Amino acid sequence: MANTVKAVILRGRKTVENVVEGGLDTVETVVEAGLNTVETVVVEGRKKVETAVHQGRRTVENVLLHGRTTMKAAVLHGREDIRIEAVPVPEAGPGELIVSVGAALTCGTDLKVFRRGYHARMIVPPALFGHELAGTVVEAGEGVTGFAPGDRVVALNSAPCGQCYFCARGQENLCDDLLFNNGAYAEFIRIPARIVAKNTLHIPAQVPLEHAALTEPLACAVHGFADSHPHPGDTVAVIGGGPLGLMILHVAALAGYRVIAVVKHDGQVEAARQLGAAHVVQATNIRKAIRETRALTEKDRGVDIAIEAVGVPESWEEAVEMVRKGGTVNFFGGCAVGTHVTLDTNRIHYSDITMHATFHHTPAMCREALDLIASGRFQASAFITGHAHLYELNRVFEKLMNRGSEIKTAIVP
Ligand SMILES: [Zn+2]
Ligand SMILES: [Zn+2]
Repeated sequence: MANTVKAVILRGRKTVENVVEGGLDTVETVVEAGLNTVETVVVEGRKKVETAVHQGRRTVENVLLHGRTTMKAAVLHGREDIRIEAVPVPEAGPGELIVSVGAALTCGTDLKVFRRGYHARMIVPPALFGHELAGTVVEAGEGVTGFAPGDRVVALNSAPCGQCYFCARGQENLCDDLLFNNGAYAEFIRIPARIVAKNTLHIPAQVPLEHAALTEPLACAVHGFADSHPHPGDTVAVIGGGPLGLMILHVAALAGYRVIAVVKHDGQVEAARQLGAAHVVQATNIRKAIRETRALTEKDRGVDIAIEAVGVPESWEEAVEMVRKGGTVNFFGGCAVGTHVTLDTNRIHYSDITMHATFHHTPAMCREALDLIASGRFQASAFITGHAHLYELNRVFEKLMNRGSEIKTAIVP
């Protein structure tokens, strides 16, 4: 009897437990499903709002941009002939960006182009020109995912293909199909899809646009210095006090190397000191410059590394004469087409001299350069010695040709 009662109670308890458990499960399922529904509704709602905001912003920007059919831009027509003209505002094709130029910097290459009226690889007049820029995205073409209107960006002047023999070896600066972009001296510039995908970078909030625009030349300087394979404790001579010579010496000094700046013009002496040169050799005579530079090394043995950043044959020869036995020379400055140099083969061979020649930059170097600018250690403002409006571009280049103490001028459209 007792057993029967016990069995009934047990069975009863089990039934109750099953019911309770089942009930709990049901409640949980209901609650879970409810939460899911609520979340879906919230997420969907948020998405709709975001899309509406985005569409709205795009519409406003498109109206701002496309309400205008023309913009002001510098057009190079030939030797020392720049005209500010009204040209069609570019539109973004698939993968492309339209950037409102915040600052475009003058550069030695542009000065050469201004003087010669063309650039063998990049510019055939009449053409838009200028290649160091930073600005704000105003239009993103179909399929662009990394950028949206309002983003502050620095778009580099080139991008490698990523597929050729050189790209596969990490030598993207030598890409067989390097795509160049010009047209920074304008209100707006179109950024081709490949540059958007590979060489357009977001600018950290604390970095002014004109500082970010230094990314391109600085990438070349960082590349040139890295390519010279410095060792701790090295003494580095940098020949040339132009923008790139000064940048290389600054990069080397920031990395803790002892730098000797070899410059020509008075205005460059102070800049070289300010940017970290331990010594400045100012000599118009090359033999004297070599002697004075060697005298700054122990037993006149010569510097460990000499980087030529002028781009004339005499300076290339000078660089070879400045390094110690076993030293490294970097022919960083590009000379005019057809230039030949005469080098002392005995000295190169019996002194075991390593020679490099660094050209351009790679996507990795561009990122390194922007990081250096954003670090705050790089004296970006020292490189921008003037500001001018687009309309003053001719005058700015004429002034640069006369080699004052100007380093770079920020052109603000
Ligand atoms: Zn440049
Ligand atoms: Zn390539």
